[in-house]
Amino acid sequence: MYHPHTDLPTPMTAAARTGQRAPLAGDTAPRRSASLSDVLRLVHQRGPLTRSRIAAELGLSRSAVRMLVAELCDYGLAAERPGQPVGTAGRPSLIVEVAHSAVASLAIQIRTDALCAAEARLGGRLGPITQISRQRRRFRPAETVEDITGLAAPILRELEARKAHLAGIGVAFGGLVRMSDGFVFASPALGWHDVPLASLIAARLGVAGRVPIFVGNDGDLGALAEHLLGAGDQGRTFLYVSADIGVGGGIVIDGRPLLPSPSSAAEIGHIAVNPAGHACRCGNRGCWESEISANALLRQASRKPTPDQAAAIDELIADATGGNPDALDAIREHARWVGIGLASIANILAPDLISLGGLLARLFPLESEIINTEVGRRVQPPLQPTLTVRASALGGNAPLVGAGTLALESVLAAPGKYPR
Ligand SMILES: [Zn+2]
Repeated sequence: MYHPHTDLPTPMTAAARTGQRAPLAGDTAPRRSASLSDVLRLVHQRGPLTRSRIAAELGLSRSAVRMLVAELCDYGLAAERPGQPVGTAGRPSLIVEVAHSAVASLAIQIRTDALCAAEARLGGRLGPITQISRQRRRFRPAETVEDITGLAAPILRELEARKAHLAGIGVAFGGLVRMSDGFVFASPALGWHDVPLASLIAARLGVAGRVPIFVGNDGDLGALAEHLLGAGDQGRTFLYVSADIGVGGGIVIDGRPLLPSPSSAAEIGHIAVNPAGHACRCGNRGCWESEISANALLRQASRKPTPDQAAAIDELIADATGGNPDALDAIREHARWVGIGLASIANILAPDLISLGGLLARLFPLESEIINTEVGRRVQPPLQPTLTVRASALGGNAPLVGAGTLALESVLAAPGKYPR
């Protein structure tokens, strides 16, 4: 059974943000359960916090927080440790943090060049990431699912061995996906059409009907991860853009991640930026993707396409860092197109933060000046003062972290109800 997940997540409710929640005393059971969830979400997203900070953030009394934290500790979801002494009077407030051993999810990312899998833990941490390079002859859905099973098996065995609860499975995928049932309408990069991906993975892993499984667009999940656990501050409007072989992205409006179903934000790679530009794989000419993808960067550097694109990009970045003029020229040209596209989107969305992932995050130290110049030149003046462009705090792993945290939702939403 797949959980409908089209309205997820709302980790910090407006009431929680503004501290309007009433003290817990006299709460009904549902209120208590909601407060338990709020406390767990807060330390999941923000990291270790003092009890007093949790009380202030959520508008709860200190005694309510003490009881809720004790309950979370009983469930194996949180732990407490002494904080640093502050001042001279009184004992230091205890620090509350998530615990990692009791529950986890399985995070998977299906990329064109690689398959990745990792245990995803509360707090947004990933276990060791296992990865296999993809071979074009193994692109078909059944082969992909078979390869995912091989990657996932040791992770699932490890969870079973330590008796951890598998809260869910999250899959980040570069294509048009219906999140409610993990149905893939299309992935031009893989040549897929109408693939019931969640069902295939659940059946092959033997968890159908027992473990919720979510499939989301990798750009949407990257934005979700950035919003909850990375650079995106709560309550802000921001844009996440990632480029590698393709270009994807996701949007958070006023603190709410847009998780459209079917996903659509991924198509930002096909906004037209250069009608006189190069042919795009979508059949048009001059799409943003055909100017800022990894292939475009190699082309700008006059380097031949190679099966080992990652190595070619590594080499190009090393050359540019070492001062090679051709490599630097290519990166300047690439940066200019990144800035032109970002400015176009910023003029529509008016974000206060743009977070760059994948190749764009790696290149940002070399490209930031030109990107900021283009954005400053093209974004309309009233929007400029509040706009920051920066590299993703989660590096290239944002979609994997997003998939993992979405799959932890059953525990985050109802900490008292997961099977122990
Ligand atoms: Zn295109």
